[in-house]
Amino acid sequence: MGEAGENTAQLVDRYNRQVDYVRLSVTSRCNLRCVYCMREEHGLSDGPVEELGYQEICRIVDVVAASGVRKIRFTGGEPLLRGDIVDLVRYAKSVDGIDTVVLTTNGVLLDRYIERLVGAGLDGINFSLDTFDAGRYAAITRRNLLPDVLVSFASLLRYTDAITVKINVLLLRGINSSELVDFAELTRKNRITVRFMELMPFDDHQIWRTGKFMGAEKILETLRSIYPALESLLGHATEHFSFSLPGYRGKIAIIPAFTRNFCNQCNRLRISAAGRIISCLYSRKSVDLLGALRNGAGAGQLRSLFQQATDMKPRDGKVAGGSASRTSMSEIGG
Ligand code: SAM
Ligand code: SF4
Repeated sequence: MGEAGENTAQLVDRYNRQVDYVRLSVTSRCNLRCVYCMREEHGLSDGPVEELGYQEICRIVDVVAASGVRKIRFTGGEPLLRGDIVDLVRYAKSVDGIDTVVLTTNGVLLDRYIERLVGAGLDGINFSLDTFDAGRYAAITRRNLLPDVLVSFASLLRYTDAITVKINVLLLRGINSSELVDFAELTRKNRITVRFMELMPFDDHQIWRTGKFMGAEKILETLRSIYPALESLLGHATEHFSFSLPGYRGKIAIIPAFTRNFCNQCNRLRISAAGRIISCLYSRKSVDLLGALRNGAGAGQLRSLFQQATDMKPRDGKVAGGSASRTSMSEIGG
């Protein structure tokens, strides 16, 4: 800790927004091949995978923490494919200034990690699961790993008092939309948030154009028709629609990832698996951090790369850059 020395100025962008949240994609590798995310042949033709090393990630956490970042999300690809993920969580939690360390996972390997992750201080898990049907699961992810995921899911539900648990359900019209109630019902007994998400056009041009998109308004309309007692709650910045049902322990959220625009409240930077700082989901511009790390850059130089990326943040990336700029969420972690 503390390598950042006097480089402690906050990362504030041109529109006076302070960056206090960093999403770190710790690998682009994945044990699934979700059709809305990557192609079957993902990773085969690109040569050896360049990934940030453990020490490099620790340095990044040091530098951003000293510049006012308070929350780190480890994502991917599939972050649990890294054998050092528990150590990464433990390290990030030990850094002064970092209050919250969370992880997004597909759950395939979670059962073998969860106890150690929670022991290392992890604050929350976003668990991506779109269906409870084995055939549908195989069709969406191109892998027959639902049994492993369900074991992990059962373990996860035992930790809802210790950590924040959110279930990411990407709704696809005519594919898993019929399971909306099954997912909503999970909030009856479990202190979790079930988040219904819209598809975004970052699917390597696979299903975006095939009419499977289900918009937030339609999701809400469907939920309201089934649950007239749905109560609105004040949501998170990205959970513009947040609800609870009377007597239920958990919450339901709808993430209008595509139709709604929360760019003006953006407080985050992303770091790609290849070690580039991405200022905006909708922009192709990024700043090379990996090269600097491997060329012996000091904390001050690293911090200025973060400021450079912060300065690139558009006021409203969706309006400025359109939506087709990324091919896959796997490089940037969603
Ligand atoms: N592999 C982990 C997982 O699936 O949770 C972490 C990385 S994954 C890219 C993070 C999130 O991005 C997942 O919840 C996934 O559903 C979401 N995602 C991937 N492609 C998407 C797309 N085209 N539109 C919307 N969300 C997407
Ligand atoms: Fe892998 Fe997550 Fe992308 Fe699915 S959404 S292919 S689990 S990175």
